[in-house]
Amino acid sequence: IHILGLESSCDDTAAAVVRVEDRGATILSNIVFGQTDLHAEFGGVVPEIAARAHAEKLDHCVEEALETADVSLKHLNAVAVTAGPGLIGGVLSGVMTAKALAATTGLPLIGVNHLAGHALTPRLTDGIAFPYLMLLVSGGHCQLLIAHTHDRFERLGGTIDDAPGEAFDKTARILGLPQPGGPSVEKTARDGNASRLRLPRPLLDRPGCDMSFSGLKTAVLRQRDALIAEQGGLRRSDRADICAAFQEAVRDILTEKTRRALDLYLPQENPALAVAGGVAANGPLRAALEALAAEHETAFIAPPQALCTDNAAMIAFAGAERFRHGQTDDLTLAARPRWPLDDRAPAMIGSGK
Ligand code: ATP
Ligand code: FE
Repeated sequence: IHILGLESSCDDTAAAVVRVEDRGATILSNIVFGQTDLHAEFGGVVPEIAARAHAEKLDHCVEEALETADVSLKHLNAVAVTAGPGLIGGVLSGVMTAKALAATTGLPLIGVNHLAGHALTPRLTDGIAFPYLMLLVSGGHCQLLIAHTHDRFERLGGTIDDAPGEAFDKTARILGLPQPGGPSVEKTARDGNASRLRLPRPLLDRPGCDMSFSGLKTAVLRQRDALIAEQGGLRRSDRADICAAFQEAVRDILTEKTRRALDLYLPQENPALAVAGGVAANGPLRAALEALAAEHETAFIAPPQALCTDNAAMIAFAGAERFRHGQTDDLTLAARPRWPLDDRAPAMIGSGK
């Protein structure tokens, strides 16, 4: 089957065509228009600007995805779209575009949970079987989950405040590094000495899989101010040291909590640990998780960077998983700003969700 996927829940406008067969999935096209430049001067994503840019770019993005895949609308089996969670203006743009396509072509419409898109990516890239343990770490979320089926995710724990991606972005802002913060902090940290400064690792002494990252950014702010007060300014090497210490603290928190999840909940047969979401692009984090999985004699699956951050191939693939189970939506599909992964209710207009 061929599925067209649309994604517009944050600051990337994306469209992709994925072919799914019994043998596996093939990404035929994966077009992403980033909006980083549009938001650069504001130091964060501005919802109104994002929504407008999505509305302007989506049609073109779809055209390019179909063209690159060399697939015409009539050869598609369904149109899948992110129906939440995310910035509502962007999600609405995507849902409206998908509905228009479905209504004019008669193709089935499939609303996809953006987080399910991230969480199912290891099946798209590596074809792993359920159940698997998943660390989902992104700009807005951080959860340890057992993926039982394509639409049943059991939450073991997660952040009680900020998401790690958000902490990376704030750290970059505090240090005057460009957005998105993840890649720029990782790059800056390469020349840094992580042990020069000591940053907290909240909740590590507590049992369970819950985590906290908000104290970390406060600590980064304090360290920065202390260094400025001491030296009259920040040197390049100071920035590098702070980034390295920060990145190491995030890595430690995530790795330690994942270790607990592995110890407690690892499936017995064909155990697999998968990671997804934008922060899963982080090199040192991937290396630490890989070592952890090896220690537990567990397969480790980390999708390539371009499929960790927001993209529409993951939405098309998650849509295909629903399609194969007969789970299609109709034109009452609604955009949901909030949509927890363990909430399996469909997004319907008037559901109040
Ligand atoms: P969500 O999926 O929770 O709705 P989102 O879609 O905005 O949020 P993603 O696109 O999955 O999030 O991830 C973006 C986040 O990933 C940003 O916060 C970014 O800083 C972070 N990120 C990207 N690359 C890296 C990296 N190399 N190291 C750490 N963080 C990274
Ligand atoms: Fe995302």
